[in-house]
Amino acid sequence: MNPMFTPPLHSQRHQFVIDFVRKKQPKKVADLGCGECKLLKQLRFQRNIELLVGVDITGAKIKKHMHRLAPLSTDHLQPTFDQLHIDLYQGSVTQRDARLRGFDLMTSIELIEHLTLPDLELFSSVVFGYMRPASVIVSTPNSEFNKLFPGLTGFRHSDHKFEWNRSEFRSWALKVCLDYGYEVEITGVGEAPQEQQESVGFCSQIGVFQRLNVSPDRDEEEVFSYTLVYSVNYPTLRDNNTFTRVLVSEVLFWAERLKNRWMEETTGGTNCVLPHSQTEQQKPSACTDRLGCPGGGGGEELTVSLWINDQEESGIVNRFVVVPLAALWSFCPKIAELSGNVSNLRRFLMDQPQVKLSQDGSALLVKCEAQEPEQINSDDEEDAPAVQCSHQTEPEEDWEAKI
Ligand code: SAM
Repeated sequence: MNPMFTPPLHSQRHQFVIDFVRKKQPKKVADLGCGECKLLKQLRFQRNIELLVGVDITGAKIKKHMHRLAPLSTDHLQPTFDQLHIDLYQGSVTQRDARLRGFDLMTSIELIEHLTLPDLELFSSVVFGYMRPASVIVSTPNSEFNKLFPGLTGFRHSDHKFEWNRSEFRSWALKVCLDYGYEVEITGVGEAPQEQQESVGFCSQIGVFQRLNVSPDRDEEEVFSYTLVYSVNYPTLRDNNTFTRVLVSEVLFWAERLKNRWMEETTGGTNCVLPHSQTEQQKPSACTDRLGCPGGGGGEELTVSLWINDQEESGIVNRFVVVPLAALWSFCPKIAELSGNVSNLRRFLMDQPQVKLSQDGSALLVKCEAQEPEQINSDDEEDAPAVQCSHQTEPEEDWEAKI
């Protein structure tokens, strides 16, 4: 029935809701008669929404489609500080449920025409009288438009209990406003050809209701008649575990990257063979190099000092490249954003088992491949590759690293 519309009529109805959400920025949104969860699937990308709820009388339909609402891999890999929780309930809009109270927006898209008139009365009292969201969007077919559908006799769908003309919808909407303290604006989507627009109106008529009184909701009975069938929390950086996971993986990635880059430039490879172990006390003799700023930053360059640190444990010498936290903080905007400052960064990393910090906690120790002790501790300086902190005496080298 819809091919006469581009985009399809159902998309236009959902887009109407999305435009409203973008404008009004509601935090708690419920879609009544959510069906295949198509609208919810789009709404979850609206960053202002923190709680998204779907309700449908047909539990099987929800169960079949609820997995569409699971977090995507990008939500896990690149979580933000936004938070989103989604709940889906099996239940009827003719019954109360206290968990649906206090919402900013409720939508009822092509639902009311599936209710008998007595159930429609219940719908009004449950949604507008008990749940009392700040805004409600109700869409329903406009029967005046039906004559434009070639060959259509009767209702648009066999399950419809009624289809209203514009005046019937307006009367119902105004009565709801009067009974429950709302105001309504009536509009629609699905335009008729220009010359018939006035005579038939929109294909789907839409009422946008706004609650009038700002006084607190009455202390209604706590009823829980819906069954929760799906519930999911999206990863958020507000959650400590997620925050730490993201920060640590960012730190490890950048530390490895800086290490590799530095070693490439210093030794011409990644073999990590330098003649003398440099202790942290010898830091001042560290090689200082420049790395291109990863964020672009108009070609700006940052200076970073890395050096080698050897640690012996049970006869095995482990060689580490020392990557100062300050360098990580300056190089990776995400690390800077997440931690705020270098001392926070140190605090966040302190107890993380995947991260090895220097004794004073000012740097990360990034392990090089294991070395034979004699290879590292050789006293014969002649055997040493020329890269040993020769930067001390040679002019400082500019790197053109593209990281
Ligand atoms: N709102 C969805 C959309 O825009 O695609 C689906 C609309 S579909 C035409 C009507 C939906 O309302 C169906 O999924 C149906 O199961 C649901 N429904 C019918 N009566 C209901 C009731 N009393 N309570 C909750 N949902 C109901």
